[in-house]
Amino acid sequence: MNIELINTGTELMLGAVLNTHQPWMCRVLAGHGYLVARQAAIPDDSKNIREAVREALSRADLVITTGGLGPTSDDLTRDLIAELLGRKLKLDASVMAHIESFFAGRKRVMPASSKVQALVPEGATVLPNLHGTAPGLLLEVSPGQFRQSDGPSFLIMLPGPPRELRPMFIEVVVPWLKRQFPQSVAFASHTFKTTGIGESLLEEAIAPSLQPLIASGLEIGYCARIGEVDVRLSARGPQANGTVEEACALVRRLAGEYIFGCNDDQLEAVVIRHLAERRQTLALAESCTGGFISNRLTNVSGASAVFQAGMVTYSNKAKESLLGVQPETLAKHGAVSEPVAREMAEGARARSEADFALAVTGIAGPTGGAPEKPVGTVFIALAGPQGTVVLQRLNSYDRETFKYVTSQQALELLRRTLAGISTSAS
Ligand code: ATP
Repeated sequence: MNIELINTGTELMLGAVLNTHQPWMCRVLAGHGYLVARQAAIPDDSKNIREAVREALSRADLVITTGGLGPTSDDLTRDLIAELLGRKLKLDASVMAHIESFFAGRKRVMPASSKVQALVPEGATVLPNLHGTAPGLLLEVSPGQFRQSDGPSFLIMLPGPPRELRPMFIEVVVPWLKRQFPQSVAFASHTFKTTGIGESLLEEAIAPSLQPLIASGLEIGYCARIGEVDVRLSARGPQANGTVEEACALVRRLAGEYIFGCNDDQLEAVVIRHLAERRQTLALAESCTGGFISNRLTNVSGASAVFQAGMVTYSNKAKESLLGVQPETLAKHGAVSEPVAREMAEGARARSEADFALAVTGIAGPTGGAPEKPVGTVFIALAGPQGTVVLQRLNSYDRETFKYVTSQQALELLRRTLAGISTSAS
């Protein structure tokens, strides 16, 4: 089937917002065996929206638009598409009731402009928005209206904010797609999330053993992102499930120590889950990451069950007073050193009474480096019931990437320790 994606938003054209919908939606669809044939990002103006939707409907079985369903004057998608398809807009009482209760539930006055979001084109199916006010809208387009074909085509309008679009896409659109356009051949796919190994080394480790399966139809895709590599294993045809299962078993055997999860798993959530299962707690002492690791952990629902405290000890004075790092250790080895990282972790563990404490101290740069401790040098310590481990890493990146990679390495050190995997190799 032919799917086209249209992401609307002038902010995308200005570079003010990164178009994250495109990779996310394509990834989710690919995970279910559907490939997007074309994607366009366009500004919020009537000419572009009309042209892009008309063109896409002249080719595709399914057109999905994102954005432009809000209450402001630049939100044009609903009106323009209704006009293009020749459908009248009507106020939908149940959508209106949802919008009113959305505002009432937050003790906010409903602006009069919000009413426009309850307007639904004739014949449209409303896709409920549990996280916002604008519903998604699904329309069936008659054959012949835009393209010559035997069957109808479909158009789905989705809201722009990711926290509204993503659950709607997973919970409503994907199940509808599977019902409406079942795969003609069986399809199976599994994505492993790995960290602590680069994509080339990972490929070297697994590809030779997967060759026989590749010959019988297995496809492997690698996606390297900062601090992570995804490995996607997929196959089509009657043997698809068996082929992918066999490939998964091989990858687990050859590279299992680097696998922290699958599909949309995030390392911080995995670590929280492991700790919660063991009823153990964690504290953090962060210097160069400035609270970023605490931020990642507290983005996970349920973090309060395991996350005890996070201390951002940027200055030497704070390292001494809040964590009990010895002034002599700082004077002798410097703030970015193995002994200081060790004392930070042990101090955080003792003062918070958590089971584990992670500490990081490093030189994010671009200034502050020295020949024996270049920019990017970082020490990551984990203090736990079995003692303290300290790793040294060289993360020579810009400050933001440095923080992310360091946070990933710290969380991975904890994950490995909890899983009983050697930490020296990580
Ligand atoms: P709203 O009710 O907020 O106006 P909307 O359905 O009209 O919602 P937009 O106004 O287009 O959607 O976008 C709302 C916000 O969602 C944007 O400011 C942006 O932060 C985010 N957003 C929109 N499109 C994208 C995209 N393609 N990728 C990432 N974020 C996006």
